[in-house]
Amino acid sequence: MIEATGKSILNGIAIGKVKLYKPPVVDIQPVKADDPAAELARYEEAHEKAIEQQWVLYDKALAEAGEENAAVFEIHAMLLEDDDLINGIKDIINNEQMTAEYAVKTASDNMAQIFAQMEDAYMKERAADIYDIGQSMLDILLGNDVESLQGTEPSILIAEDLVPSETVRLDKSLLLGFVTREGSTNSHTAILARSMNIPALVQCKDIDDSWDGKDAIIDGYKGCIYIDPDPELREELTKKYNEDKEARAMLEELKGKDNTTLDGKTVKVYANIGGPQDIKAVQENDAGGVGLFRTEFVYLNSKDNPDEEAQFKAYKEVVEALAPKLVILRTCDIGADKTIDYMNLDKEENPALGFRAIRICLTRKDFFKTQLRALLRASAFGNMGIMFPMIISVAELKAAKEILEECKQELLAEGVAIGEYQIGTMIETPASVIIADDLAEECDFFSIGTNDLTQYTCAIDRQNAKLEPFSDTHHPAVLKLIQMTIEAGHRHGTWVGICGELGADPTLTERFLRMGVDELSVNPKSVLPLRKIIRETDLSKAAE
Ligand code: PEP
Ligand code: MG
Repeated sequence: MIEATGKSILNGIAIGKVKLYKPPVVDIQPVKADDPAAELARYEEAHEKAIEQQWVLYDKALAEAGEENAAVFEIHAMLLEDDDLINGIKDIINNEQMTAEYAVKTASDNMAQIFAQMEDAYMKERAADIYDIGQSMLDILLGNDVESLQGTEPSILIAEDLVPSETVRLDKSLLLGFVTREGSTNSHTAILARSMNIPALVQCKDIDDSWDGKDAIIDGYKGCIYIDPDPELREELTKKYNEDKEARAMLEELKGKDNTTLDGKTVKVYANIGGPQDIKAVQENDAGGVGLFRTEFVYLNSKDNPDEEAQFKAYKEVVEALAPKLVILRTCDIGADKTIDYMNLDKEENPALGFRAIRICLTRKDFFKTQLRALLRASAFGNMGIMFPMIISVAELKAAKEILEECKQELLAEGVAIGEYQIGTMIETPASVIIADDLAEECDFFSIGTNDLTQYTCAIDRQNAKLEPFSDTHHPAVLKLIQMTIEAGHRHGTWVGICGELGADPTLTERFLRMGVDELSVNPKSVLPLRKIIRETDLSKAAE
């Protein structure tokens, strides 16, 4: 048996086989082919397979999402048969004697660029499709298909690191748990794992490729992974795994009950989500609403900038499915660890302190307006809150609200229906706490992002694993800032929630309730455990 330790991000047990996850290769270098004829054969095989794949995807999409959504795969299959593209690729292999990968990448990029420069909007849009089909052939040539990355059996993934865009693309039904050599417990990948209730370890320095295919158990309580566990240990942890399942079953009895303390104070318990795929989790865990929809995951999930229609569909789906519950959508919080290639953002020295979130949105007004129009259109289908991230000044909040209003007027002029919505501000910088009285005048609610608030208050990079010994998640300064925010909000009739990870920390629930917090928004799996704690709390007794 091998035992390795790491930092746990969820108290849970995962039992299964290990699958070594190697991220897809994206950097294609100009390499001369040793055997051009063999490269040509490789390309032809990949080409044929890519066409087959498009038709499989077409059938799947047709069955699951209808003709309109399936059509794109039909277009892809047709584009793959395009003579110019095929000849372009073959020329590079035959005449320039380059590898199949280089030929596919170069010819498809060239063709996509020609489309991108066309006047006609329809033709322009096809550029994205050309990139897509080029990538589909590359994925086959490089062995990047999901099956080879993740396997076909449920497994525990081990990887050097996982970035949020990879984590969102993983097939969750096959993901029992994961262990990475890098990563921090407060990264977005960790947050995603927690929200999916997936036991995971980060900073497991002893990861070894030789574990691939072996039996393993993650003990999230102890922060350990065991490879080829001894029979006694296997028995003990299987028992714990079953006990966890039973404890969850007992929590089921709390469904439909209030989040009310023994002395009668009621607080809202909402869920944090990343997209329509989480609707079920909100419903199954009986959350009172959504306190944070991280809309940037809609962008991260997409290969290209999602247009207004695609965003509208995603937001509408969530708002409509959960109506009349309140769903708070946070506008795109891209930047720092959540990077997206197609946004072409510059590399920065200090990305967490850099061009991100509202700063990008206020600078790229058209980009922002696309999202705001989609949100406003979706507001007609339920009960919506719109909130802005990383605010540090009243001027920023007012500017964001002005653009929202501009979009609203445009849509009304177009005859589009818009529903009621609340406006909120994320409080996740010390600056926003200090001016909270002024910000409160400008919005209906605050949502405290304790992850960034802690990072910026303590000057501790939430991504840097080395700093964890210096970090105190219950730092008195952060707790004081939370209290100040709640008091400032209430002075102006602005309700205050917490949507950072601290909101789910059971050791702080009573304290937050005593501070007067109105709402706690947590990963869906924490809703019922939190309800249990709230119902067992008695605020009439002196605080311990
Ligand atoms: C936070 O900063 O606490 C927060 C909720 O936002 P995110 O974790 O997405 O930065
Ligand atoms: Mg944040």
